[in-house]
Amino acid sequence: KKKAIIMDQQALNRAITRTSHEILENNKGIDGVTLIGIRRRGVPLAHRLAEKIESIEGQAPLIGELDITLYRDDLSTIAKLPVLNGTKIDFDINDKTIVLVDDVLYTGRTVRAALDALLDLGRPKAIQLMILVDRGHRELPIRADYVGKNVPTSKKEIIEVHVTEIDGEDSVIICEE
Ligand code: 5GP
Ligand code: MG
Repeated sequence: KKKAIIMDQQALNRAITRTSHEILENNKGIDGVTLIGIRRRGVPLAHRLAEKIESIEGQAPLIGELDITLYRDDLSTIAKLPVLNGTKIDFDINDKTIVLVDDVLYTGRTVRAALDALLDLGRPKAIQLMILVDRGHRELPIRADYVGKNVPTSKKEIIEVHVTEIDGEDSVIICEE
């Protein structure tokens, strides 16, 4: 299993700083903007963005969580099925601009499930997408508005995302068999 570090702590911090500025610029500030992290690692990333945005703008966006897990629906299918396990969104999403936050974007199926879940909760003004690593191989017409790093991968490769809050360190590693 060959491994290469593609982002260290400094690179991850810089990506959070840059995308925080992009979120602010795109939305002309943070009024009406909320962040929703997709569990598990999208949640600490959303908190990092919120802290950075507060330090720049003096105002922190509200944060919510979506829990979407990939299950194999049966042994014959290769594609995994994203299932909504729960939500923790303690605010009204109507007329809000929501920035969905996740660690890795691959086929797009998880984001699609997240969009379904959000649209069941109300009618946001807009939904945008922030992704730490876009590894390609989309199977749906979904793209990220804010990207930490584009990492072209083969389908055999896996991106390991480590965040201090969960893993005790910040790093992004590409692994291949
Ligand atoms: P998708 O639904 O777009 O196929 O896959 C995205 C979801 O699966 C994300 O929530 C992400 O956490 C996980 N995922 C897909 N590929 C990878 C990968 O290479 N590394 C990691 N860490 N997560 C992945
Ligand atoms: Mg995930």
